[in-house]
Amino acid sequence: MESSTPLTVTEAAHRRRPAPPRHLADLTRAERRNVVMELGHRPFRAQQLAQHYFGRYTDDPADWTDIPAAARRELAAALLPRLLTPVRRLACDHGATRKTVWRLHDAALVESVLMRYPDRITVCVSSQAGCGMGCPFCATGQAGLTRNLSAGEIVAQVVDAARAVHEGELPPAEQAGPPRRVSNVVFMGMGEPLANYAAVTNAVRRLTEAVPDGLGISQRGITVSTVGLVPAMNRLSAEGLAVTLAVSLHAPDDELRDELVPVNKRWKVAEVLKTAWAYGARTRRRVSIEYALIRDINDQPWRADLLGQLLRGHLVHVNLIPLNPTPGSRWTASRPDDEREFARRLAGHGVPVTVRDTRGREIDGACGQLAARES
Ligand code: SAH
Ligand code: SF4
Repeated sequence: MESSTPLTVTEAAHRRRPAPPRHLADLTRAERRNVVMELGHRPFRAQQLAQHYFGRYTDDPADWTDIPAAARRELAAALLPRLLTPVRRLACDHGATRKTVWRLHDAALVESVLMRYPDRITVCVSSQAGCGMGCPFCATGQAGLTRNLSAGEIVAQVVDAARAVHEGELPPAEQAGPPRRVSNVVFMGMGEPLANYAAVTNAVRRLTEAVPDGLGISQRGITVSTVGLVPAMNRLSAEGLAVTLAVSLHAPDDELRDELVPVNKRWKVAEVLKTAWAYGARTRRRVSIEYALIRDINDQPWRADLLGQLLRGHLVHVNLIPLNPTPGSRWTASRPDDEREFARRLAGHGVPVTVRDTRGREIDGACGQLAARES
C-alpha cells in the first residue's frame, strides 16, 4: 500500500489491532528453547510443552504433571496463551460435519469446519478474519479483511479438531477401520491464504513436523487454496513444501473472471495457470482447479470446452462446486442437467473431474458461506 493512499476503514482497523499473543506454534524448536531458557527454565521444558500441545492436544497447565507446579503458570503465559475461544458449535450430517465459530483475542471472529468422510477426516481452516479479495459470490469476501491470523491461530484450529477426534466427539463411521485422526487440512475457510504468506507457511510447517515439533500430518494431506496470487504461488513453489495447490478459477476467460474474481484484473487466467503448472511440475503434485458452478453465468457448454482445452494434458483435477447460497447474492447454483453436461464435456477432454458435495450447507459451513456471525 502506498503511503499517500488514504486508508480504508478496514485497513485502519487492521493497523490498530494489537498482534495476537506469541504462541509455541508460531515458533521453531530452537526458538521455543530460547524462550524457555530466557525465562530461566531448563531447555527441555520446551519439548515437554510441545509434547503436551502437539501430542496430547492440551494447553491446560493442570495436565502437565511432568512440569513443576511452580513453573507451569509462567510457561503457560509465555508459550501457550489461549488463542481461540469457541463461541458456537453447529453440527449436521448426524454429527459428521461440525462448524465452530471462534473468537480471537481481539474479538475478531473466524470459523473452521471439521468433516468426517469414510476414508479421511478433514478440517477446513481460516487463514484470515474476513478476506480482502472481494469475490462477489462469497460471503467471506463481503465484509472485507479484518486481519491476518497468526500461525498459532491457524494451528490451534487444527489442534482443537485433533482433540475433538481424539476424545470421540465425532460419531464413529459406519465402516470398519474408520480414520482416527485428522488426516487432511484444507485452507479453504475464511481468507486468502497466500495473502497471509508467512503465517500460512509457518503453520504448514507446524502441522507437518513430526510430534513433538508439530502435529505430524502428511504434506500430501494439506491443500492451500488461492485465487491466483501469482508472485506468492511462485514463492510457494520455491518453499520446498509439497502441499497440494488449489486454484479457484471459476471462469476460463478473462472477461468473466475479471468479474467473478476481481484479482484477475491483475493476474490473468493464462498467467495463473502457467504458474500453477510450474508448481505442479516442481512438487509433482496434481493441481486442483476449483470451479463454482453458477447458473447461466459460467456454466455454458462452450465454457466447459474452453476450460477443457486449457487444462487438457496437465496434471490436474477439477472440483466443480455447486454454488452455495450466500445472503444478498443474485446468483444461484447451476441446474443439475447443466452441471452434468459441464462435467461430461470436461471429462471428454480427458480432464479428471468430480462434483464436490455441499457438506455443511444447513449450518452455513459450506464453501463460501463462512461469515462468522455471533448468532
Ligand atoms: N480464498 C481462497 C480459499 C477460501 S475459499 C480461495 O478463494 O481459493 C474456498 C473455496 O470456496 C474457493 O474455491 C472459493 O472460490 C469457493 N467459494 C467461495 N464462495 C463460494 C460459494 N458461494 N459457493 C461455492 N463455492 C464458493
Ligand atoms: Fe476471499 Fe476466497 Fe472468498 Fe474470494 S472466494 S472473497 S478469495 S475467501
